[in-house]
Amino acid sequence: MKSYLFAPGPTPVPERVLLRMAAPIMHHREKVFEEVFEEVREGLKYLFQTEQEVLMLTSSGTGAMEGAVTNLFSKGDEVLVVRAGKFGQRWGELAEAYGLVPTFADFSWGEPADVAAISEILEKRPGIRGILIQASETSTGVMHPIREIAALTSKREDVILVVDGITAVGVFEMPMDAWGIDVVVTGSQKALMLPPGLAFISLSEKAWRFAERSTTPRYYFDLKKHLVSARKNQTPYTPAISLIIGLHEVLAMIKDEGLEEVFRRHHRLADATRSAVKAMGLELFAKSSPSDALTAVVVPDGIDGLALKKAFLERYGITVAGGQDHVKGKIIRIAHLGYFDPMDMFQVIGAFEMALHSMGYAIELGSGLKVLAEKLA
Ligand SMILES: *Cc1c(COP(=O)(O)O)cnc(C)c1O
Repeated sequence: MKSYLFAPGPTPVPERVLLRMAAPIMHHREKVFEEVFEEVREGLKYLFQTEQEVLMLTSSGTGAMEGAVTNLFSKGDEVLVVRAGKFGQRWGELAEAYGLVPTFADFSWGEPADVAAISEILEKRPGIRGILIQASETSTGVMHPIREIAALTSKREDVILVVDGITAVGVFEMPMDAWGIDVVVTGSQKALMLPPGLAFISLSEKAWRFAERSTTPRYYFDLKKHLVSARKNQTPYTPAISLIIGLHEVLAMIKDEGLEEVFRRHHRLADATRSAVKAMGLELFAKSSPSDALTAVVVPDGIDGLALKKAFLERYGITVAGGQDHVKGKIIRIAHLGYFDPMDMFQVIGAFEMALHSMGYAIELGSGLKVLAEKLA
């Protein structure tokens, strides 16, 4: 039996990227590496849709989230944390770990943030220095209205918008400069089609001014140091050389396909997956504004969600994600971000139908596959 990854991270790595990374290690202080690094810097700006430098950190995505908190804010700073899932909670935990004072804007899991509510909090609490939010809340499969929230913060000199774009960058349109987003963070193992181990962060000019004022202690993730090095095609410490070589290949793939086409492909797969799941008689967990990165599906009544996830793996070799915290066992999350194409979705929807069928759920086999074919034909 083959193994198939359909979890929203880590995601499959393309063959040509694996082959590039299998080459003997080059030294990071040599010219060959600096040439790769320079092209990678350009490719990342294209991906983030920014003129700013995109810094590469050796960590998983959370490292860049931590870097955002420690470089932009100081102990006692008030921040607005949007919580509508597991990753929103993580922003809150990071803020509290460094002594920031969070005000929480809580929304139900499965719902997007409400712009009017956020605007009201900003009006009421003029001390707020930043908004911390996800663009795509991976724990629920919901997209937050980043463009509208950026419209609120970009007209204020003293508030920055910090976006965890870990399942958004390279999935759907979120132009950092054009929308006036101050900080965008992502990681290697989601839409970037790489193994885990690299995190990325880019700061607007306004955010760099915040960084000048921040007094939070930091060392490894001191972004100013990374910026100075990056401009010389270097990193302050040994970079994850193999991953950066792989990234060079990934960025060439994205450039060849074209960012617009990358977004269109993700949307087609997401739209077809959502339609297929509904045709199977199932319900999406996202009440509105579903993310094109993944589809979260409500496990139907009478079915044990943990057993369903196990059936995917043991019968068909497919890894999907379940739910976390209070939705554990209640949802199944199917990824379609990164290295996915239409035929991949037939595997996961086919397995979904058969797994439910095997568990005694009344499903007409082929009901989801039929709609998938109609959508993707
Ligand atoms: C995966 C993910 C993270 C966490 O990234 P790690 O790489 O596990 O540190 C953070 N935010 C979102 C939205 C994610 O999807």
